[in-house]
Amino acid sequence: MQDIRKISFSDLVKFLENHNEPAFRAKQIYEWIWKKHVFSFDQMSNISKKLREHLQKHFYFNVTHVSQNLTSQDGTVKFIFRLYDGKKVEGVLIPTQKRITACISSQVGCSLDCSFCATGRMKLLRNLESSEIIDQVVHIQQKSLELYQRPITNIVFMGMGEPLLNYSNVIRAYVHLTDPKEMGLSTRRLTISTAGIAKGIKRLADDNIKAKLALSLHAPTDEKRIKIMSIHAQNNLKVLHEALQYYYSRMKQYVTYEYLLLKDFNDTLEDAKALVKWCRKIPCKVNLIEYNNTGTFTGSNPEQIKIFEQYLLQHDIPTSIRKSRGQDINAACGQLIIQDKSIILKE
Ligand code: SF4
Repeated sequence: MQDIRKISFSDLVKFLENHNEPAFRAKQIYEWIWKKHVFSFDQMSNISKKLREHLQKHFYFNVTHVSQNLTSQDGTVKFIFRLYDGKKVEGVLIPTQKRITACISSQVGCSLDCSFCATGRMKLLRNLESSEIIDQVVHIQQKSLELYQRPITNIVFMGMGEPLLNYSNVIRAYVHLTDPKEMGLSTRRLTISTAGIAKGIKRLADDNIKAKLALSLHAPTDEKRIKIMSIHAQNNLKVLHEALQYYYSRMKQYVTYEYLLLKDFNDTLEDAKALVKWCRKIPCKVNLIEYNNTGTFTGSNPEQIKIFEQYLLQHDIPTSIRKSRGQDINAACGQLIIQDKSIILKE
């Protein structure tokens, strides 16, 4: 028996040929799976009963369930998803006037340990399958239609885990999400965010992945960044710069730098100057992020955030301030962590 959502289209065609079924059936089955998102062969109403029985004998579905959802005062909804093996991940629906964003996870836990992030306290238990990544989108989409009568407009890989350390599954999910014959989302509506895996950034360019790229920069110098992100030891600013230049030379797409503002750590004018210098290297924009309390730092005050933003804007760096959303339900940036006994924390 095999997970039907792990087999490729060409293997499905082969399977059908071996069962004397015409190749066009593969297209119909693929549509049920990746466009209509059914979780049972019985629902495939244009497939004969005989073929459905064959499929049932050889394949199964690994289904992702919503184990809980919590709604914030600001309309943000946090989902706790239970995977087929009982493990859990979180995802978030973030509605604004202009867009509806689904923030999704790529791993159960995380192997990295960025000190401002609650997920970083969890051990990495496993990578998510591409189907589990898509299931999060499908559930969030349903909720969005139910609550706001609007579909998702944007998807960001900014939930639990480092997407570029689960590269193949993330890219497989990206292909299903953007294929016009399946979910058909625009590639530029997807953002892959990385803590700074230089090799993964180059690979995105080599594979011509048109999703937007965001880099969690958070500090403009090696001395500071290493203090909050241990991944920086192998991916320092020189290494990242080289990877980003490679990326830009091939993709011609600007990069977004995510910059969390931490009081008296990275929010001074000196930091802003260093950040401007870094931003001159390749076309980019900066998102300044309000720190959501995860117990380790103090966020910069609103006046300081404004001063920092103004400095960047005066130096022609496109900059916006990202307001914290869903803080009251621990759904905001950096706050995702499973709060039950299934969680395994790092030592
Ligand atoms: S910020 Fe991202 S990469 Fe860093 S610990 Fe959190 S989930 Fe992992």
